[in-house]
Amino acid sequence: MGWLRPSLLGPATPPRPAAAAGPGEPRALRCYHCWRDFTISPRAVSARCPLCTKGLQLADVVVTGVRRTAQVQTCGWVIVEPKGHLTASRIEAGLGVRVMGELRLAGAVGAAAAAAITAGPLILGPSARWAGNGSASRLLIDEGAVIEGGRFAIQIPVGAQLAPIPA
Ligand SMILES: [Zn+2]
Repeated sequence: MGWLRPSLLGPATPPRPAAAAGPGEPRALRCYHCWRDFTISPRAVSARCPLCTKGLQLADVVVTGVRRTAQVQTCGWVIVEPKGHLTASRIEAGLGVRVMGELRLAGAVGAAAAAAITAGPLILGPSARWAGNGSASRLLIDEGAVIEGGRFAIQIPVGAQLAPIPA
């Protein structure tokens, strides 16, 4: 199974969620603590990172309604669907964040300002509405998306060791 090639991720094209890997295929995921890549059984729903040993949430987080929460963490994708409204203080997503509805980063966790952090792309679709800070390896914004405010950092998290993309 291959990694998503950045060149194939057009902004209007939904990325293939990690959970869509074929049955029996190991899932490629990324730890949101140490940002290193690993693969795991497709049936696993929780695990410890084989590299930093911290407990992990593995399933993609897909928001279809109104959800307000302090923290969202996943080794896969955080996806806010067109009718989804997510408000959170902190989002950590290993593979990426894709917003087609509304995402608001508000409040604070400890001393850190609210932010969404991923080692993958941050994708704002044509119906996206965004408010808050974000950090991602790439930023893709469709015409029609609304950014009310926030600061963006384009960077790979410190310590990240991303799996090479197969040729
Ligand atoms: Zn780890």
